[in-house]
Amino acid sequence: MAYKFVDNYREQGARKQLVRHLEKRGIEDKKVLAAIGKVPRHFFFDETFWNQAYRDIAFPIGDGQTISQPYTVAYQSQLLHINKGDKVLEIGTGSGYQTCILMELGAEVFTIERQENLYNRTIQVLPYMGYKPHFFLGDGSMGKPEHAPYDRIIVTAGAPFVPEKMLKQLKLGGLMVIPVGDEKAQKMVTILRVGENDFERIELDTFRFVPLVGDQAW
Ligand code: SAM
Repeated sequence: MAYKFVDNYREQGARKQLVRHLEKRGIEDKKVLAAIGKVPRHFFFDETFWNQAYRDIAFPIGDGQTISQPYTVAYQSQLLHINKGDKVLEIGTGSGYQTCILMELGAEVFTIERQENLYNRTIQVLPYMGYKPHFFLGDGSMGKPEHAPYDRIIVTAGAPFVPEKMLKQLKLGGLMVIPVGDEKAQKMVTILRVGENDFERIELDTFRFVPLVGDQAW
């Protein structure tokens, strides 16, 4: 497959404007803003739609899925408080854009996607762009116990509840960010593991994600 990866002044300028827009919307973490300013989001779009790539909107990527809205990516990334070298499990690779942002923040990323077409695309595109996470194909609703424990877990699809098995894969002091709700709307939830069986849960703003589909999901 031939990809067209050209980062012109027009796209670079649009990316800077997107960063300013996210700052105005309340994203304060300078490292997250720098990551958004660095990753060429238009590389995840067909060239015909490059003019849509730096709008603050989700966009179809095929197979009924979407590349998340930049604000949502920045919001989840900011909540994760990633430290350099953190082991991060990502459920729902999708386009791979969020994966690149996590890697720009210094994470070692283990990312799972259940849709084969999307998986096949990201395993080619991301390394070509210079990002080499650990890719997995399959149902991530039970986490990825073989590589646990993780410092951080991010779920990028809407879950009906917090999967218990995934929680147990957090390190002590580890943090999960997951949207939880019904098909129409989900609350962003953060869960901090404070003890072997103790977790602190905080509910934040409302979002609308595509559903998390699987054994411990819809
Ligand atoms: N953050 C991604 C991006 O920037 O492109 C967007 C992710 S998209 C909103 C959610 C993804 O989760 C979809 O690609 C979907 O196929 C995937 N997904 C849903 N349920 C899943 C599961 N149980 N395991 C792995 N991936 C899943």
